[in-house]
Amino acid sequence: MSADLRAVLFDVDDTLFDRNGAQLMALDVIAREFRDLFAGVDRQELVDAFLESDRLTTLEFYGDIPTVKNIRVRRAQVFLDLLGLDGAHADALAELYVEVYPRMDAPVDGAAALVEALAPRFQLGVVSNSLPDVQYQKLATLGIRHFFECIVLSEEFGIRKPDPAIFWHAAGLLGREPEECLYVGDSYTADVVGAKRAGLPVCWFNPNGLHPPQVGVECDFEVRTLAQVCEILNEVEST
Ligand SMILES: [Mg+2]
Repeated sequence: MSADLRAVLFDVDDTLFDRNGAQLMALDVIAREFRDLFAGVDRQELVDAFLESDRLTTLEFYGDIPTVKNIRVRRAQVFLDLLGLDGAHADALAELYVEVYPRMDAPVDGAAALVEALAPRFQLGVVSNSLPDVQYQKLATLGIRHFFECIVLSEEFGIRKPDPAIFWHAAGLLGREPEECLYVGDSYTADVVGAKRAGLPVCWFNPNGLHPPQVGVECDFEVRTLAQVCEILNEVEST
């Protein structure tokens, strides 16, 4: 890898924003707002049902995209179904969820510090598989949105990671070649594979020490904490 890095592009969910943490916080807000509906359901049951509804409907979302609103209402319906509760509340639940979830203060450890530290030295951007109504708000909630010169979201751009085109688009918006942009992300299949295929050097954020899948693509760097991204960039620049 050369020392000619000019930009750093980030994934958002589970790289900068703790998606699961925010979901659980949002669920607590929802349980409070709808306390009569959820009376007698304990928190663990709520959490299990929510995570299962999210898993099931995320699979649907990435299969055949219905409208965004539909998929969110559908998730709320599945959630209520799993708890044996009245599905008539699904619309209101889905609406409240979209309102509170991206406003939860749920950074991945060191996210704002890293972005702030890199901002004077690199152009910064985001490449995320996500929906615009929640994703911009998450970056605003984290207090870092203004640091990003480009924010490319799959559901606005029309192409998702790991397709190389979404990475090329972001590099192009910054006026950079792919090899000048380091990509930082937690998903091996979407982030590491996609960005490497697009010709970007990649830092795999792997906080849980997972084994990389055997997919014939290797990352350039691997870190367990976001603070280590800064250390890597310091080393690269000094060589
Ligand atoms: Mg991610």
